[in-house]
Amino acid sequence: MQLHPLATVVDRIDPRGSYTTRDIADLLRVSDSTVHSLLGGHLLPGGRRRTAPGGGVRWAWTGRALLRAAQLRMDTRRRLPHQDLSPLTLWRLGCRCERCTAAHNDRDRDRRRQLADTVLTEDIRRQLLATVAAGAPASEAAAAVGVSAQRVYGVASRDQEFAAELAEAGWSLCAAGRADARCSTPAAYRDGCRGTGCRLARREANRRP
Ligand SMILES: [Zn+2]
Ligand SMILES: [Zn+2]
Repeated sequence: MQLHPLATVVDRIDPRGSYTTRDIADLLRVSDSTVHSLLGGHLLPGGRRRTAPGGGVRWAWTGRALLRAAQLRMDTRRRLPHQDLSPLTLWRLGCRCERCTAAHNDRDRDRRRQLADTVLTEDIRRQLLATVAAGAPASEAAAAVGVSAQRVYGVASRDQEFAAELAEAGWSLCAAGRADARCSTPAAYRDGCRGTGCRLARREANRRP
């Protein structure tokens, strides 16, 4: 069952306190307009409406009113206003419906990729490829240039050009050499050669029925 957005911050609500829309925005770490959407969606009952000295309308809630609101059961009739708020904001407010979860996962993945690309700069890629070409397995080369092997393989899985460069550099790892018949065989892979030629040979062998 889904919780009311305030349910996760009840320990920060003082029952004797007084809260404006701004205060609620701070509690939930969302914008003021998001709080107004919750208000419009009848998810913040018990507020008092006052006309501010300048003429605008100001809302205020007692801490008790907010604690009562926090206990509202969310269901199909009382749900977060999906027509007003972005899926990411809704996810932050606790919605775990399919659409909001998908939006969150997409953003998460984009951020991880961005981070991976930022860490694996062009400069570091060159150093890494040179290290592999000089005979270090990719995982060791990654450590030598200060990135994780997982990150290197992650970038290679999305960047075909980089993957090809990595494979090309990996030929140097074939113990007997690219031109030598002892390499580029599954048997050489079994003997421990991790060069590109032997890795390809093993992959081919595994593919055959
Ligand atoms: Zn949702
Ligand atoms: Zn080999």
